[in-house]
Amino acid sequence: MKYFSAEGDTSESVDELFMREALRLAKIAYEADEIPIGAVIVANGQVIAKGYNLTERLHDVTAHAEMQAFTAAANHLGGKYLKGCTLYVTIEPCVMCAGAAYWVQVDRIVYGAKDDKRGYSAFHDRIIHPKTEIKGGVLETDCSDLIQSFFRNKRN
Ligand SMILES: [Zn+2]
Repeated sequence: MKYFSAEGDTSESVDELFMREALRLAKIAYEADEIPIGAVIVANGQVIAKGYNLTERLHDVTAHAEMQAFTAAANHLGGKYLKGCTLYVTIEPCVMCAGAAYWVQVDRIVYGAKDDKRGYSAFHDRIIHPKTEIKGGVLETDCSDLIQSFFRNKRN
């Protein structure tokens, strides 16, 4: 399904649409008792890769949603760089994932809620590739509500 032209349309509604898909994946993680973070990678208006947090299932602290999505996108494209791609992720990427985003040279990163503790921007903005455009706060409340409810249930 094509949502917009190859020239790209960065309107709010398109970003919300893809963030909803990332949220859907975050909810799958939630159901699996994983920290509920979801990610999709979009190229030419189409979702080419999906990921959600799998750190518990894989016993791997690096199995973040973005890492899953980057690997799947590279496999889909048959190349290691994600030029022309946008990463949608429900929570601001951590330093590791922002570093991976640097290496794959993704064009845009759109995230939902900020992570004041582990988000990359708490450490250094220069982690992000200079050519990568950033947009935060897309469906912020939905994204942060999900993760807060997860940790609330954990404490109970
Ligand atoms: Zn991460």
